[in-house]
Amino acid sequence: MGIVIAIDGPAGAGKSTIARLLASRLQYTYIDTGAMYRSIALLAGRQGVSMEDAARLEALAAAAEIELLPEGRVCLNGEDITDSIRTPEVSAGASKVAAIGGVRVALVARQRQIAERRNVVMEGRDIGTVVFPNARVKVFLDADPGERVRRRQGDLPSTVSAEELAAQLAERDARDRGRAESPLVQAQDAVYLNSTGLTPDEVIEKILEIVRREK
Ligand code: C5P
Repeated sequence: MGIVIAIDGPAGAGKSTIARLLASRLQYTYIDTGAMYRSIALLAGRQGVSMEDAARLEALAAAAEIELLPEGRVCLNGEDITDSIRTPEVSAGASKVAAIGGVRVALVARQRQIAERRNVVMEGRDIGTVVFPNARVKVFLDADPGERVRRRQGDLPSTVSAEELAAQLAERDARDRGRAESPLVQAQDAVYLNSTGLTPDEVIEKILEIVRREK
């Protein structure tokens, strides 16, 4: 089993940027578990599977071949879907498929498998609570609502208004925090870090301090 650094938190807190940079600094493998849930949502949309159809969604998750490539590129059944999974529709769909227990079982098994033979920085919602409760380092990365909206605005085309984006983020967070299966919650032994007003380098420095302490 490799070393696991778990980074959990709500959408727009800066998890992806931080996890990717941290992994490259430590020469660990970066794993974006949200991309896995997004892949299943994309597949369901393409195949016309309803977000309520738990049995079919579970079957999709069990059969899907998801590859997380270096630099954060994502392949689904051999196709590069990196850009297609970043739309607002897929974001909303991902948080719906992620509420289904059977989908989570399939994806969590793969997440554990990935970390069997390598050191990873893994980001998501339940990494420190469910996937790796014994992770070496756990960070709960947060940011104030206004900052989270601004960051997400930078990732998306300017056709989406700040109000719309704020509503989408709030809805997704409420679903992620309120679901019965592996809800978004800070692990008891996670370090809470609010990244509002900090540069990525400043956040990385704080996490590296925690990593050094845990060695
Ligand atoms: O991190 P990202 O915003 O890409 O995640 C998309 C959705 O996938 C989240 O809103 C959440 O519902 C789900 N997710 C999850 N558990 C994870 C990672 C993501 O439930 N470990």
